[in-house]
Amino acid sequence: MDRERSIETVAVTEGEEPFRVGSESGDVVSPIHLASTFALPGLDAEMSLEEVDPDAGEFVYSRLSNPTRHALERRIAALEGGEHAMAFSSGTAAIFTTILSSVEPGDHVVAFEDLYAGTKRMLTDVFDSRLDVAVSYVDATDVEAVAAAVTDRTALVWMESPTNPRFDLCDVAGIAERLPEGVTFGVDNTFASPCFQRPLELGADVVAHSTTKFLNGHSDSVGGAVITDDDGLAEELRFQQQVGVGGVLSPFDSYLTLRGLKTLPTRMARHEENATAIAEFLEGREEVRAVHYPGLESHPQHGLAREQMDGFGGILSFELEGELADAKRFLESLEEFTLAVSVGGVESLIELPAAMTHEPLPRAEREALGITDTLVRLSAGVEGTEDLLADLERGLEAIDAPSAPADD
Ligand SMILES: *Cc1c(COP(=O)(O)O)cnc(C)c1O
Repeated sequence: MDRERSIETVAVTEGEEPFRVGSESGDVVSPIHLASTFALPGLDAEMSLEEVDPDAGEFVYSRLSNPTRHALERRIAALEGGEHAMAFSSGTAAIFTTILSSVEPGDHVVAFEDLYAGTKRMLTDVFDSRLDVAVSYVDATDVEAVAAAVTDRTALVWMESPTNPRFDLCDVAGIAERLPEGVTFGVDNTFASPCFQRPLELGADVVAHSTTKFLNGHSDSVGGAVITDDDGLAEELRFQQQVGVGGVLSPFDSYLTLRGLKTLPTRMARHEENATAIAEFLEGREEVRAVHYPGLESHPQHGLAREQMDGFGGILSFELEGELADAKRFLESLEEFTLAVSVGGVESLIELPAAMTHEPLPRAEREALGITDTLVRLSAGVEGTEDLLADLERGLEAIDAPSAPADD
């Protein structure tokens, strides 16, 4: 990445150039190129389907490349500090295509046991069960456990940091150092965003995002992205993106995400300010058994967070005292927080993993991951801090209040 420009500048301008509408003036904002196909200059044009170069303004068919998606891909690459980026129709499509591009039947994958639940199901139910790619899940808070799980069949190590919903970290640079040559190291950077963590700089080979979350930031688009500096992997990824799988991001979602990215650094700072205030507030309350947020000094990996991150993010989880009914009473009494899965939007969201995002996991597995019935996950939006704290106060008081008639 062009580190001479700050991330705030890159977020606003990279990838968008004034598009000439006449001889003098041009659009400041990249237009949405909805065309599925492009009028070619002639039969002799040296534009084979295999070698279209969007950087040279060559576009043939929108699944292969599209000007609006290309602008987004350039911006995301610059933000993560990578050469190549590809945008996908969801974070899931981005992760699937990355794993598919990195493994073959008979290979082995090492993954963090506390992965995003959807990724874990993909690895187990698609790659392991159907494509003969064995997966080992490890406690990756321990670099040695990751190194010990690697065998001579290992083709890919797949990590997240911080994880969801336990907010464990893995030492990205430490793991990168311990992996043998030839093992692809991928990191899902959705929770930190490039504002707070750049895994390629820490030694990862490839970074994936659900742009649905912080990158777009307004809860109105589902998308994904993959970034890498490795030319060989990029070529394979592009082939799978355009021809093998074809799960590309639409022009309209590309536009929304380009627009959302302009305020990414501004939003991240505000998300973090709110998350920090909330974490500190909850930590002081007797109704709360534990708060999981890497920015708290009580977080077991706070030191690692300070080393590898430039900020601690906008999401946290906490465990209420009591049982499921108490957690329900708390959640249902909130007015500012919306009960919903997903994270990273400007509006504050709250959810109960045991009953929502992680409900598909068997109870024993949930409990082994520390997902109890009263573990609450919260994504701090950009609203007024005092309003959010007052709402949480209301929720905590509702737990203590003697149960009132339902219509009261
Ligand atoms: C949401 C999410 C995904 C999946 O992304 P989709 O856009 O929902 O397909 C993957 N990883 C993490 C960490 C996520 O939060």
